Amino acid sequence: MDALIITLVCLAALALTLPWVFGRKKPATAPRPMPDSWKAILERDIPFYQALTPARKAEFESRMMHFLATTRITGVQTSVEEIDHIYIAASAIIPIFGFPQWEYHNLHEVLLYPDAFNHDYQLAGANRSVLGMVGNGPLNNLMLLSQHELRQAFINKTGKSNTAIHEFVHLIDQTDGSIDGIPEYFLDKQYVLPWLKLVKESIENIEQNRSDINPYAMTNEAEFFAVAAEYFFERPELLKSKHPGLYEVMGRIFRYDGFEKQS
Ligand SMILES: [Zn+2]
Repeated sequence: MDALIITLVCLAALALTLPWVFGRKKPATAPRPMPDSWKAILERDIPFYQALTPARKAEFESRMMHFLATTRITGVQTSVEEIDHIYIAASAIIPIFGFPQWEYHNLHEVLLYPDAFNHDYQLAGANRSVLGMVGNGPLNNLMLLSQHELRQAFINKTGKSNTAIHEFVHLIDQTDGSIDGIPEYFLDKQYVLPWLKLVKESIENIEQNRSDINPYAMTNEAEFFAVAAEYFFERPELLKSKHPGLYEVMGRIFRYDGFEKQS
């Protein structure tokens, strides 16, 4: 009897969750086709896009335009330029491109700050070290991003970091209820314990100065996951050669089994 009740509760929870995860967000305005000038910018600045086949490029473009039609982007003491729309939408779609139906139901608006801000979302005063932020409470359905950092990540072709992708990965992690570094919708149950073991070992390697992964990843499992995802999407070949185990798990989580095979 108890098992039946638990099963029914689980099914009800699943029924409530699935449309939220997979349902299509209705755009406020019909998405327009991507201008050719934007495609040229994607070709120039986004290696992930460059590696796609023409058909997959068209899919990427259409998902970017749908994202922009369903998500507000607002400048805080800065003006939002066309390039910011392109970079934010590309950063949103890159980590979910392996999931054709995936949308960010936990995001309504991106607030773009000119540069780093503090934990009270202020641009003045001390401790202005935050480049991006998502979370719960007042941050529900919001993402805060530094415009300077957003642009730098795409201008710098050899870096392993990308704050916008990092924040979108936190939103993916959040979909199962908590930002905890275990993306339960993306990782089959049998892989969770090996994943946590890999995270622990990787963090130990960073602590002992034996790793090129950004030390910010040591903060906790959630930050490790987001930092590792940045590395995976920015420098997949380097991650593959230096951290093959991590590359393999990232590929499994994001359903991306080799960027070079896409071309
Ligand atoms: Zn983070």
